[in-house]
Amino acid sequence: MDWSSVYPLKGLLMTDRRLLGLFAHPDDESRIAGGTLARYASEGVVVSLLAATRGEEGSCGDPPLCTRGELPQVREAEVREACAVLGVQDLTILDYPDGGLAEVDRADLVGRLVAAIRRVRPQVVLTFGPEGRTLHPDHIAIHEAATVAFALAADPAAYQEQGLPAHAASKLYYTTLPERLVQAIDWGYPGIPDQDVTVTIDVRPWLEQKKRATNEAHRTQAHDQPFANLPEDERWETLSIEYFHLAATHGIERRDREDGLFAGIDS
Ligand SMILES: [Zn+2]
Repeated sequence: MDWSSVYPLKGLLMTDRRLLGLFAHPDDESRIAGGTLARYASEGVVVSLLAATRGEEGSCGDPPLCTRGELPQVREAEVREACAVLGVQDLTILDYPDGGLAEVDRADLVGRLVAAIRRVRPQVVLTFGPEGRTLHPDHIAIHEAATVAFALAADPAAYQEQGLPAHAASKLYYTTLPERLVQAIDWGYPGIPDQDVTVTIDVRPWLEQKKRATNEAHRTQAHDQPFANLPEDERWETLSIEYFHLAATHGIERRDREDGLFAGIDS
């Protein structure tokens, strides 16, 4: 049977697709994967985001836009605005301490991420790679916890007390940068071997959304721009490509190269 005649509108099937980003701070999502989140939201994917902290140790802005006491609430509002800009439909913010994620009870943190995966039931999960983009200890802690949570969310025996059915997400991707680029722009932090990049997404069609989320929504952080060592036009050119490494899978064939985060996943 030719199912294309039964389901002629691919978009109808896309509504079943769900993507969950697991990050540490409000603004990680916009700077690191904002174009990709906006792309999939624009294609009808239900995009969810979890930020483990409110970013209360970050900057209040330069010049300051709020007091330090106001910063957690301000940054929560900023990430909500960024979600609206990017098309992220579902936001969870946890109460973990900014700057202290590596020290929190790891089983508790993993459990919160397992619960998020089981509630959202995504096919695709995104998080930091082991280099945490900038070697930030919070980024590395989320990377480690999300990697464990991806596996344990699928295990009915793990975190049974949550009362949520187990969920095997199909793919876990790490956001990353290839070494060739890291060297070319003198980034100063580690990348991964170029051949380990599984998916490269050109986000130019969504670059304005990424810029608005990064600069206008996350106002308190806007003075500290990603790739700040580059000239402005070169900076946004660099930010217009986002890179992902396929780190783990459940029930699908792994490939070294894919043309998108949902490649190989049945609708
Ligand atoms: Zn961060």
